[in-house]
Amino acid sequence: MKHLKRRDFIKAAALAGAGAVVSKGFAKIPLENIGSPNSKPVVIASANGLKAVEKAMEMIKSGADALDAVIAGVNINENDPNDNSVGYGGLPNEEGVVELDAAVMHGPSYRAGAVAALRNIKNPSKVARLVMERTDHVLIVGEGALKFAKAHGFKEENLLTDEAREEWLKWKENLSKEDDWLPPHNIDDDDIGEIIRNYYRYYGTIHCSALDLNGNLSAVTTTSGLSYKIPGRVGDSPIIGAGLYVDNEVGAAGSTGRGEANLLNCSSVMIVEWMRQGKSPEEACLLACKRVNERCRERRLKDEKGRFKHNVKFYAINKKGEFGCASLWSGGRYGKIQFALHDGNEAKILDGVSLFKA
Ligand code: ASP
Repeated sequence: MKHLKRRDFIKAAALAGAGAVVSKGFAKIPLENIGSPNSKPVVIASANGLKAVEKAMEMIKSGADALDAVIAGVNINENDPNDNSVGYGGLPNEEGVVELDAAVMHGPSYRAGAVAALRNIKNPSKVARLVMERTDHVLIVGEGALKFAKAHGFKEENLLTDEAREEWLKWKENLSKEDDWLPPHNIDDDDIGEIIRNYYRYYGTIHCSALDLNGNLSAVTTTSGLSYKIPGRVGDSPIIGAGLYVDNEVGAAGSTGRGEANLLNCSSVMIVEWMRQGKSPEEACLLACKRVNERCRERRLKDEKGRFKHNVKFYAINKKGEFGCASLWSGGRYGKIQFALHDGNEAKILDGVSLFKA
């Protein structure tokens, strides 16, 4: 039998002390991955997550694991018919069908689960968690994800609200250049069908990361993705390393905005790596924005000054409870760059920083 080293013994003792607050699902957390007990908790989310951070912090304060807390937080948005970027009430694909993407990552066990292009199930974040806990896989998509959810007792329901259907109908009736199909072109073309669509097309998602009382980190990202997308399109949200990433020794990060740009850069895992190298959460998020901008070679996606013209936002917290948010753009049509935060005292909306100002 392996002998416990002194360091492991101290951690084991800490775990025993914290035993009562570790949720059932995570009872087998490897000892070496346990955080420092009694750390100062923090919850960050995209700006639509004020209620989510409130809920998550309330649970964390009563001893919940960060993953339980962030999932319960984003379930509020998933269930809200008025949030048309997530879950029930989300804007549909180009055929008028709502397709949801979500992923969860649990720091202390270094496990993750995700679903993509999931139809008819309101809480994809809960299904993502079950993928993590009850399968040997990380990502299940489409029909398979729906069957898996139903096998676990999730009820199918129509997620398209009248409001979302009417928005979709407006888009369909005025379709013209505002879809995602491109004619043959090369990367220097800037006049293919005046593809300005993503200025006006609707992105929306909730990301939420937390540091709990045991010093453990977890994250979730859940979305209905890009509105009016090609059926089956998967964005960054359910992709581990892109839409979110957690390293329990370092920090957690996540994203909202133009998923295609983030998929090409795996920004969340990069943000965590930059934090590991000593960057603050805000600096790391800004570095991710710079990389998205610098890596883009497609003329149609750049403005007249050669800047990437779509927006991506990043959110990060580190192991010390520091936080940050940055986006490529703020101002003008991009609006204010904000995020939701609970620092243990109060839930608030704060301003993030941006690479460019419109
Ligand atoms: N990132 C999401 C996606 O591309 C959308 C969003 O965050 O608004 O699917």
